[in-house]
Amino acid sequence: MNLSQAKQYALICLLSLSNMVLWAQQNDKLKIQHLTGNFYVFTTYQNLNGYLFPSNGMYLVTQEGAVLFDTPWDTTQFRPLLDSIASRHHTKVVLALATHYHDDRTAGFDFYKMQGIPTYSSKATFDLCKQFNQKQADYYFENDTVFKIGDAIFETFFPGEGHTKDNIVLWFEKEKVLYGGCLIKSTENKSLGNIADANLTEWTTTIRKVMKQYPNPQFVIPGHFGWSNNQSLQHTLKLLNKHRPK
Ligand SMILES: [Zn+2]
Repeated sequence: MNLSQAKQYALICLLSLSNMVLWAQQNDKLKIQHLTGNFYVFTTYQNLNGYLFPSNGMYLVTQEGAVLFDTPWDTTQFRPLLDSIASRHHTKVVLALATHYHDDRTAGFDFYKMQGIPTYSSKATFDLCKQFNQKQADYYFENDTVFKIGDAIFETFFPGEGHTKDNIVLWFEKEKVLYGGCLIKSTENKSLGNIADANLTEWTTTIRKVMKQYPNPQFVIPGHFGWSNNQSLQHTLKLLNKHRPK
């Protein structure tokens, strides 16, 4: 190749390298993993004392569009999540729901509202968002509620206080998916994590209620860290037991 061809070639290499770096950066900040059927778990990160701490949300692709369960924690990933869903599934997000008031669940509500996406939480979460100056949903439900969106059906369940006083779980009966949010600790966790707003007296009873209500979950998705097995409820009980003052 002559000199100008070589220059052109070098420029193309440089461009594709920068594209790759950009892609890698985006990919590092937003991880999307297939769970089962039309369920996907997405993870974003926040730097906590020099450690990139992961936070999980989930989305379900339905005939009517995708439904978001909790928003990204990383505020730079609200748009990339919508874009990824659009390019992977050729669909829009039609609803976003948060499982408690902390910002690892609700941070994206204002952004998604601006995109015309209806946002939901329980009334308790709605009120706590206001009280603690977190992003608030547009709509709330007062009691455990069944949502039907396209071919998808799921129910919300408030089992009692635990990680926070408003934490709810979501149950997808057909697929036996239990989305636990921060009420449920991953089997990768060695401690209860952020317990600043927790009710340590009630948490054990609350987990037992979830186990009684949904005795055979096939998948259990915790708010943070992995979900490679369905033993997170049992593991959360163990952590609570260890934490009990002697
Ligand atoms: Zn959390």
